[in-house]
Amino acid sequence: MLNIVNVGYDSTNYYVIETTTTKLLVDVGFPGTLPKLNHALKRTGIALTAITYLLVSHYHPDHAGLAQELKQQGVKLIVLEPQVAAIPQLKRYMKPQYHYQEIRLDDNVTISLSQSRAFLRGIGIDGEIISTPGHSDDSVTLVLDAGLAFTGDLPPPKMATDETLQRSWDAIRAHKVRTIYPGHGPVYHLADQPRR
Ligand SMILES: [Zn+2]
Repeated sequence: MLNIVNVGYDSTNYYVIETTTTKLLVDVGFPGTLPKLNHALKRTGIALTAITYLLVSHYHPDHAGLAQELKQQGVKLIVLEPQVAAIPQLKRYMKPQYHYQEIRLDDNVTISLSQSRAFLRGIGIDGEIISTPGHSDDSVTLVLDAGLAFTGDLPPPKMATDETLQRSWDAIRAHKVRTIYPGHGPVYHLADQPRR
């Protein structure tokens, strides 16, 4: 069983991937928006306490701002090694009035990209996490073997104007992905996207 629920708000998509054993949240909103997340979860019948893991596509405020607050609620943060350096940088985007809670580095589940498949298998998800820089150096994409990819803020292929972005899309296509779950905007099919 694999079920995907969009619990987004404020024009950003946050996805819960549900399997029989796990609820993995992909991305989370700005600091201070925990009530909005709770509201969105309630609407879909998911309890915050049922979410076991959080994966952040990249460390920008609208994708990671609530991460530490979620960890305090018992959610485990999965960090990929290429993301570690970006985490302390996140506070540069935060205004004092956001009351951003800085993400600690010592209590995460930190794994390498090559460990991601085995890790995901352990929580009932078939897929892997790949590096897809272009929007930011720390951007990763969760690719599911079912043909789905969670691409965060990676611009769609038709907007992939530089080589880094094109290489990231080549990496995604190499995983036989058909359907893209982006950080903003509707789900789309890769077949409908012209290659540049
Ligand atoms: Zn971003």
